[in-house]
Amino acid sequence: MWLASSRRRDEISRMAKHSPLSKLLCDLVSIPSINPSLDHDNLGCAEEPVTAFLEELSQKAGLRTNRQKVIPGRDNLIVCLSPMKKAKQRIFLAPHLDVVPASLDAFSPKISKGRLYGRGACDTKASVACFFQAMLDLSLSTNRPAQTEIVFVGLVDEEFSQSGSRAFARKGPMGNLAIVGEPTGLQVVTAHKGSLWLQLETHGKAAHGSTPEKGENAILEMHHALDILFNEYSVLLRSKNHPLLGSPTLSVGKILGGSQPNVVPNRCTVDLDRRTIPGEGIDTVITELKDLFQSLGKKAPKIKVSRRVPCPPLHTDSSMPYVQMLLNKARRRKTCGVPYFTDASPLSAGGTPSVVFGPGNIAQAHAENEWVDLNQVERAHSTILNFLKELP
Ligand SMILES: [Zn+2]
Repeated sequence: MWLASSRRRDEISRMAKHSPLSKLLCDLVSIPSINPSLDHDNLGCAEEPVTAFLEELSQKAGLRTNRQKVIPGRDNLIVCLSPMKKAKQRIFLAPHLDVVPASLDAFSPKISKGRLYGRGACDTKASVACFFQAMLDLSLSTNRPAQTEIVFVGLVDEEFSQSGSRAFARKGPMGNLAIVGEPTGLQVVTAHKGSLWLQLETHGKAAHGSTPEKGENAILEMHHALDILFNEYSVLLRSKNHPLLGSPTLSVGKILGGSQPNVVPNRCTVDLDRRTIPGEGIDTVITELKDLFQSLGKKAPKIKVSRRVPCPPLHTDSSMPYVQMLLNKARRRKTCGVPYFTDASPLSAGGTPSVVFGPGNIAQAHAENEWVDLNQVERAHSTILNFLKELP
């Protein structure tokens, strides 16, 4: 389905004549790889065609490939570039291959005024193209690392539950650094927030709507709880601060309660997205909430974790030599933090120190008219290539 018509292919090659990198990016964008868990229109195009496309390119270039089963029909792609001598360390280049949904028109890449438009252009096929091309370029160079194995890992399912990076972290191998591809605007990101989904539940007593005094209204009870969350609890959250991430946040994403106007509701639930900073975990957040209600002399709603898969914050030591080396190649003085969650967290939790880096601005990710600046794509590619060339 993704194979473009020959006219379309000619157009792509004409548009991307400036460099093999833009040509690769156009090819990648023209292959739909919508995450099936988000594909509500059932367009039925998961990561597999992109995986197969990169696998074939790798094999033609003489690189060793491997697949790691994650979900039936959805494999992580692993491509290895061996060092000149015996491998003593390993660096991962780890972008994700899936994109969020869009109409099939959005998979016809267009170049205009130095920007490449199309679904996934920014998030995160630009990173896929930069990382993969840098590895291909290095494979042709005589200036290859003597003792460092370079491993490109095309991860599945980042946009839904990160099962690709979780499987990779679980089954190994481990590395000395993973560079996770996301649109960071060429900043080196060493910290991002974690995400904790909680459900609050209040219970009351049903009664006829004409005699509300005979019931206990669960929605009103929830209203009092939310009042505490957005006043006293917000003050408490703002009092915490991480140098790269600022304060933790709380957002109400869903509320359910009652059945009809003339019945006093006996149950109400609210789903919360609590973004955490380093030092905060499931237990600390739940205890903190219960303690707050208790200190105010108020009854706490029932609190439960509604998503069991762990999403802890990322906090990689910026002073690590490889992080400093990447900073230097990216011509940045300091690393930075971002609020969104990435594959770097599961990889890091699995024992490989991880950072996030890539071309594009997160504001364009998932946007209706997604685009990436081709100049930034070129710069990301040369940053990664220069970094790889300097490895021992
Ligand atoms: Zn992404």
